[in-house]
Amino acid sequence: MSGLHTATSLVRAVLARETTPSDLLTETLARAEAAAALNALVSLNPHAGAQAEAVEARVAAGEPLPLAGLPVIVKDNINVTGTRTTCGSRILDRYVSPYTATAAQRLLDAGAVIVGKANMDEFAMGSSTESSASGPTLNPWDTDRVPGGSSGGSAAVVAAGISSVALGSDTGGSVRQPAALCGVYGLKPTYGRVSRYGLVAYASSLDQIGPLAHHAEDLALLMNVIAGHDPRDATSLDAPPKFRAGTPDDLRGLRVGVIRESLDGNTQGVTSTLTSTLDALRSAGATVQEISIPELKYAIAAYYLIAMPEASSNLARFDGMVYGHREPGADVTASMTLTRERGFGREVQRRIMIGTYALSSGYYDAYYSRAMKIRRRLADSFAAAFQSVDVLITPTSPFPAFRRGEKSSDPLAMYAADVDTVAVNLAGLPALSVPMGFETVNGTELPIGIQFIAPALHDELLVRISGGLEGLGVVQARVAPAFA
Ligand code: GLN
Repeated sequence: MSGLHTATSLVRAVLARETTPSDLLTETLARAEAAAALNALVSLNPHAGAQAEAVEARVAAGEPLPLAGLPVIVKDNINVTGTRTTCGSRILDRYVSPYTATAAQRLLDAGAVIVGKANMDEFAMGSSTESSASGPTLNPWDTDRVPGGSSGGSAAVVAAGISSVALGSDTGGSVRQPAALCGVYGLKPTYGRVSRYGLVAYASSLDQIGPLAHHAEDLALLMNVIAGHDPRDATSLDAPPKFRAGTPDDLRGLRVGVIRESLDGNTQGVTSTLTSTLDALRSAGATVQEISIPELKYAIAAYYLIAMPEASSNLARFDGMVYGHREPGADVTASMTLTRERGFGREVQRRIMIGTYALSSGYYDAYYSRAMKIRRRLADSFAAAFQSVDVLITPTSPFPAFRRGEKSSDPLAMYAADVDTVAVNLAGLPALSVPMGFETVNGTELPIGIQFIAPALHDELLVRISGGLEGLGVVQARVAPAFA
C-alpha cells in the first residue's frame, strides 16, 4: 500500500514524539479538504482540535495510549457529544448529540481524535450511499460509481487515504460491502462483541459497529479498543478482545469451506478473485472444500422481513417532539405526520410501511414468524458447517462498484446487492471483507472483496487469517490511485 501510514505506525510516531496529534489532525483535515468532491464526510467534529491537544498533554504525561493521536472518522449514526448526528436524514439535520456512544468513547479514552462524521445511506438503509440527505458519496476508484453502503462514507475516507481507519455499522452488510467496493478491509464483529450503546438503532437484533482499515494490524488495533463488555448494552457479550494480525503460519492446516450457494451469479472478476484467493490459501497449507448452506436462498427475504419490522419500531421515536427537525401543524398529530412525511426519505418511508405491515395482526405469522424460523435454521446450518471447517468463504458482493443511479429506482435490485452478506447478520456471526482483487471495467480498475465468515466469538481468527494473507503478499489494499 502506498500514500498512507498505518494507524499502528502513526500511534507509534506520536508516542515517540516524532509527530503530534495536532499535526496528524491538520494533515487529515487537509486531505479531507482535497478530497471534498467525494462527499464522504457529513460534518467535522468542532472539538477535534481540543481533543488533539488533550491527547498531547496525556502523551507528554507519559500515558501509553493505544491510539495516541490517531485520527478516526466515524459513521454519522454513531453519537459523539457536541457533534451533529444526522444519520443521513433530513429529520435529524440539526440534531447535536448530547452523549457519546461507547465505541466512540473507547476510541477517545484510548487517545484517538474523532475528526468527523462519515456520510451514509439514510438511517443505514441502503447499499450505495445514494439516499443520504447530504447527497451521494462517490467511489474514490471511479467517481461515476457508488462506494457501496450504507457505510459508504467510512469506506471512501479510508480508500481515499483521508484517515487510515474508520468506524461503520453493519446490519446486513453495511461495513463489508462498501469495504469491498472501495478496496479496503471491513469487519462485522460477532453480534454483541462491540457495544451498540449510542449507535442509532436500525434493526437492533442485527446491528453491529465495525472497523474499516487498510491493514490487518490496524483492524486488531481498533478491535482491541472498541470490543468488550458494556453494561449499557443488554446484548453486550463479556469476551475480552485478543486481536493480532497473523502470519502465513496461521493459514497452515486451516480448514476452509467455500459456500456453494455463493458461486453463481458473480461477475468474472469476482469469480477469478475467489479462485485466486483459494489458490493462495491452499499454497499456504490450508485445505478447501465446498459447503452447502441451503437456507441461503431465503436469506434476503428473511433479512428484510426482520430488518424492516425492527426499523418500523425503532424509527417511531422520530416524530419531531424529542429529536431533530419539527414541522409545525394544527395539532400534535398533524405536526408529527408532517414531520415524518417531510423528514424521512422515500426508502425509509417504504421500510416503515412494509415493516409495520409485516408485524400487523393477520400478517405477523405469514411474514415475521416465518422469517424468524428461517433465521433459526440458517444459524443451525452455519453451526453444522463449522463442525467440519474453521472458516467459510464467499464473495462479499457478486459485482464490483455499480454506477450511480443504476439501482436507485429499483429497490429489489438494491436489496439483492446484499445476497452474500445478510445471512451473517441473521446468524450473529463475525465476518471480514478482505480486498483481494480487481476487475477492470471500461479501463478502470474496480476493487473486489472476499468475505471470510467465522463461528461466533472467533472474530480474532478472521484478523489472523487476513494478516496471513498480507504476509503472502496477496491482499490488494491500497489508496485509490487518484488520491495516492
Ligand atoms: N443494505 C442493507 C439494508 O439496506 C444493509 C444495510 C446495513 O447493513 N445497514 O438493509
